[in-house]
Amino acid sequence: MISNNLKTINENIEKACEKSGRKKEDVKLIAVSKTKPVDMINEAYELGIRDFGENKVKELLTKKEQLPDDICWHMIGHLQTNKVRSVIKAVKLIHSVDSLRLADTIDIEARKAGITVDGLLEVNVAGEESKFGFSPSEIAELLDRFSLYRFLRIKGLMTVAPFVHNPEDNREIFNKLRNLSVDIMNKKLDNISMNFLSMGMTGDYSIAVEEGANFIRIGTGLFGAR
Ligand SMILES: *Cc1c(COP(=O)(O)O)cnc(C)c1O
Repeated sequence: MISNNLKTINENIEKACEKSGRKKEDVKLIAVSKTKPVDMINEAYELGIRDFGENKVKELLTKKEQLPDDICWHMIGHLQTNKVRSVIKAVKLIHSVDSLRLADTIDIEARKAGITVDGLLEVNVAGEESKFGFSPSEIAELLDRFSLYRFLRIKGLMTVAPFVHNPEDNREIFNKLRNLSVDIMNKKLDNISMNFLSMGMTGDYSIAVEEGANFIRIGTGLFGAR
């Protein structure tokens, strides 16, 4: 089942790349394995997937212990500041840097641990009450502060788009996130690069790829319903 799903996803990525003149190698699939058992992650691993996303620290750490070392783990969910210390060494990228307090804490804890940590700023593009993340204007105000960090390195932007029935409805959201990342890149700030655009989930990843995503985060579409 996972292998069929993966085939479909890869075909859709390819189509979206053709449509938008992009290279499929520039789009990386993150398999969102939250709530799914280690067996299923192993199955995906056997199919060649090496990037997995989790939204809870404890679950991520427990799974990491039981799985091969060459897996890159991505923290994609809201991260409480008191859990930062335990997760920063375990992950390749934190997609969900969603508040100034969290960003400050990651920088401090990374310094204490003697490492640098890569993070993406989560943007609540649609301004939904229920969602975490910075508004685009907050980001503009905070950039100078982010550029002072020495241990948290901002590498791009992430968004969780609204739940919609027609994925076309999210095109504007993805386009806005991309434009914001280009604006930030053009400022050429120290310590802030915009290499990564993490957007698109099971329902809307084709549109996200057309609009420039280079990380797509797919759970249900790969592993089945949660
Ligand atoms: C669960 C989750 C996903 C994957 O959602 P699906 O609709 O199952 O593909 C992607 N991003 C985040 C932040 C999530 O929490």
